[in-house]
Amino acid sequence: MLKAYSRMSIENKGRVLLKLSGEALAGDKKTGFDAKTVLRVAREVKKLKDLGVEIGVVIGGGNFWRGRTGEELTRSKADQIGMMATIMNCIYVSEIFRSVGMKTAILTPFECGSFTKLFSKDRANKYFEKGMVVFFAGGTGHPYFSTDTGVVLRAIEVEAEVILLAKSIDGVYDSDPKLNPNAKLGYDDGVYYYTPDSWYDEAFHNSFRQAYNLSTSGSKSGLNYYASAGYLKDAGIINNSDYQRYTARLNADYQAKNWLKFVASMSYSHSI
Ligand code: UDP
Repeated sequence: MLKAYSRMSIENKGRVLLKLSGEALAGDKKTGFDAKTVLRVAREVKKLKDLGVEIGVVIGGGNFWRGRTGEELTRSKADQIGMMATIMNCIYVSEIFRSVGMKTAILTPFECGSFTKLFSKDRANKYFEKGMVVFFAGGTGHPYFSTDTGVVLRAIEVEAEVILLAKSIDGVYDSDPKLNPNAKLGYDDGVYYYTPDSWYDEAFHNSFRQAYNLSTSGSKSGLNYYASAGYLKDAGIINNSDYQRYTARLNADYQAKNWLKFVASMSYSHSI
C-alpha cells in the first residue's frame, strides 16, 4: 500500500522521501528479507532516480523487531533493538540499490562505527547533490518513536516536497484492522492511496510541461509600454501534482516633462 503526501509544484524535479515498512521488505514471508521483493522495489526506485528526482529512504524494522513487542525488556532497550533493526534493513536495501546501478549513502542519528555516517542536514544535502540515494537509518535516534515520525522529521529537515509511504495498511482506522474485521477508515486525511503491484506506475507518470507567452511593446508620444501574459501547465511527475499558472505583467513609463517621468509596473500571478 502506498500513500503519497504531495505538495509538489514541479518547478524542478523535486526531492522525495520514501518510507518502507520493515514488512514491505519481507514479501509473503513477513519476517527477514525477501530478495525478489527488494529487487523489485530497487528497480522501480531506479526509474524514479533516472527521471532526476532526489530520493531519500527511511525503512522501519518490523520485519525483525518492534519495541512494543519486547515486553520482557524496558521500552527504551527494546526500542534500541528496533532502531538497530532499521539500520540492518538500510544496509541490505542500500546494497540491492547499488546492485541495480544507484549510488547510496546511509546516515544515522547516532555513531555506528564505520557502518554509517552521522546524520546532519548539510551532509544529507551534499549526498543528494552528488546524486546518491540517501538512507536515513536508526529512526529519530530516540525510543518511544517510530520510523513514521522519523520520516516526517527528516522530510522537514531536508525540505522534501513529497513523502511516499509503502505500508501494509491503507490509512488511519478507528481500530486495528488486523484484529477487527469491521474496522473503518477513520477519516479522509487528504492523502492519495494506491494499492499497486507496481506502485511506481500508479504514483508516477512521465511529466510534460506546456508554456505559452504573449507579449507586446510600443512607444508613442513619450509613453513606453510593455505588456505580457503567460500560461504554464506542468503535469508533474507524481499523479495529482499537476499545476497551472497564469501570469500577466504591465510596465509603462511616460515622460511628461524633461524633469518629470511617471513609471508604473504591475504584475499578476495565479496558480491552481
Ligand atoms: N524505533 C525507535 N525510535 C525511532 C524509530 C524506531 O525506537 O525513532 C524503534 C521502535 O522500537 C520501533 C522499531 O524501531 O518499533 C521499528 O520501527 P517501526 O515500528 O517504525 O517499523 P515499521 O513498523 O515501519 O516496520
